[in-house]
Amino acid sequence: VPKAALLFNVNFYYGGLSMNEDKALLKKDLILVLKLNSKFNYGNIEEVQKIYDALTKQDILTTSVGKRYLAKLKQILNGTDSYSCMFCNAQTTQESIICKECLAKFQHPASNEKAEQKADNVPAKPVASAKSKVKDNQADKKKIAISVAALIVVIAIISAIGLSKIFTALMMVSLGVLIYKCVKKKPKKNAIIAVVVFLVLAGVAEMFSGDSSDDVLDYLGTSQEKVFKEYEQANFYTENGLLTNENKAETGKAYITLSNGKVIDVVIQSGMYSSYNVAGVHIGDDYSTIAKAMKKKKAVYDTSYSIQGSLETYRFTYDGYDVQVIFKMSGSMVDRISVTGTK
Ligand SMILES: [Zn+2]
Repeated sequence: VPKAALLFNVNFYYGGLSMNEDKALLKKDLILVLKLNSKFNYGNIEEVQKIYDALTKQDILTTSVGKRYLAKLKQILNGTDSYSCMFCNAQTTQESIICKECLAKFQHPASNEKAEQKADNVPAKPVASAKSKVKDNQADKKKIAISVAALIVVIAIISAIGLSKIFTALMMVSLGVLIYKCVKKKPKKNAIIAVVVFLVLAGVAEMFSGDSSDDVLDYLGTSQEKVFKEYEQANFYTENGLLTNENKAETGKAYITLSNGKVIDVVIQSGMYSSYNVAGVHIGDDYSTIAKAMKKKKAVYDTSYSIQGSLETYRFTYDGYDVQVIFKMSGSMVDRISVTGTK
């Protein structure tokens, strides 16, 4: 590979010769392409088709380097390419469509960084520098917009889940600070912002896909309007002045009782969604799990409502409610749990 050609390419893809492209976006595409390239066997056409479809569907490779990679994949799919380097056209194998020389160049970020800085230090013509400043501003705005969008998604997820307000507020603040720092202090590293945001998102999603997501304690106080969005209204009937769907709820769903338009009582039992729990206690759990969970809630064992070996009743306060929880036992396992909250 002629050395001059290689330098040309490196400079080109780091913005040296492509003035009308966003340097950060180029870098992002380049990193993604290098990552994909290292994971793939281009001899597996099915695999190539899958990744090609995914990349084009999501439209994530938008720069010249990204498009070049996509074009290469297409050539492989068409059978018009015999594995050559996407940067310099040197012969490669099906293991990589970037030749060893080009790879070596890209895989030394330290030296690239230096080269980049050097390039940045070369005094540019005033017009060009003004132009690039405008561009930088636009890039920053773009990053902020992306961050805000990510924040909104996080808020939407959390509010949909109904996390306690304090935790939500703390999380918003810390995430805001984090994003602010990333944007302000390291304006070039929008890749890091994306990673952080998506890590947080993934973490949040993961956290709530877990068992704690369906703690029916959080149902207490929920408005009738909200309940009817999730539960079939036709299944509710009035009993003793209360609105309930007990024994009539849709398959798998909890029994809900409303008083004055708010949830005051929730019942879960075997046959309902297994994610349902009360303070972390699920149907099928044993005495020790109950004991641990109730200790955490600083609950008081209510002897007057308990029947040893059959009903285990606890009281504690939660979110402003006096909560009574009755664990109905079958053998040594929880069979049914009812939660009643009064204010
Ligand atoms: Zn090459």
